[in-house]
Amino acid sequence: MRSLPVPIETTALRRTRQNHPGGPWERLEGASKRELKLVLLENQQNVCAWCEVTIGADNSHLDHIRTRNTSPQLIFAVDNLLAACQNPRTCGHGRQNKGSLPPWVHPYETEDLEDRIDYYPDGSLVPASILSEATQREADEAINRQLNLNADTLKERRERRMVEIGTYCGQGFTVEDLMEILPDFPTLTKKLCR
Ligand SMILES: [Zn+2]
Repeated sequence: MRSLPVPIETTALRRTRQNHPGGPWERLEGASKRELKLVLLENQQNVCAWCEVTIGADNSHLDHIRTRNTSPQLIFAVDNLLAACQNPRTCGHGRQNKGSLPPWVHPYETEDLEDRIDYYPDGSLVPASILSEATQREADEAINRQLNLNADTLKERRERRMVEIGTYCGQGFTVEDLMEILPDFPTLTKKLCR
């Protein structure tokens, strides 16, 4: 989970937003959804906006940050859309029916999202200790219950990645080199190698 620049709105998305401001989502055609997904993937460097595993157009979906139910007016807003992985138990699919995310858990609106989370050596994601107690509770709810970012598979992958990063770090590789060699979990790589 990290801050991202707001992506460029595609022409098809803009037209659909103007012609059908309240939806339904099906008004955006399949080919236009794929085009939008490619734009979002490029903006996210081809990793899931929530768990940061590598994804592509064929194994990802468009996720509404503020859900279609709670914020139908944002259904076609480019700054409410992310590309997320297809894991049924985490990220976009996993958070269905688990309420709204805290407003600040928003990759386009919060500029220092990566500073609000930390990693333990066992691969767990935890709220950063700089956060107030109330915000830590919100972050804990979002990380563990809504997005389920400490699912065993993710935690284990991050733990392995930390070991790999450790071996590369001392050998003169820059963060950019590492992000190319090990594209999953870019926030983790940046934190460990800065
Ligand atoms: Zn994910």
